[in-house]
Amino acid sequence: MPTLLNRIVQAEAKPPDQLVVCESCAHALADLACKTIVMGLHSHQVALESGHVLRFDCFSDAPGLVPDNSTTVEGTVFPEYRCVPAHCAQCDEQLGWFFVGPKPFFGILADRTTRIRRTDRR
Ligand SMILES: [Zn+2]
Repeated sequence: MPTLLNRIVQAEAKPPDQLVVCESCAHALADLACKTIVMGLHSHQVALESGHVLRFDCFSDAPGLVPDNSTTVEGTVFPEYRCVPAHCAQCDEQLGWFFVGPKPFFGILADRTTRIRRTDRR
């Protein structure tokens, strides 16, 4: 259970002026200011049967990602949502998922993306 101090720190943490970009091709995917809380957390982890743990961050919008609406992934971690793979709009690598439900959001894989300061972008 979060302490009161934790909650205050979370509330005060301003979104920095950063972009999330594709690690392969540096395509801009989302504004870090669009990071959103789903089920109480910004970031979630999924343990796969293979033993790999995927960590992803939740974003209310990710204009640089293209959801593949022809595919639905079974067994989403969020009960009210179905999810579809989301690909980089530039290099087509899968970088996360689009979760379709009451409040749609993107889950972007932390280890396939990088964060850069907006001002560093040419
Ligand atoms: Zn890419």
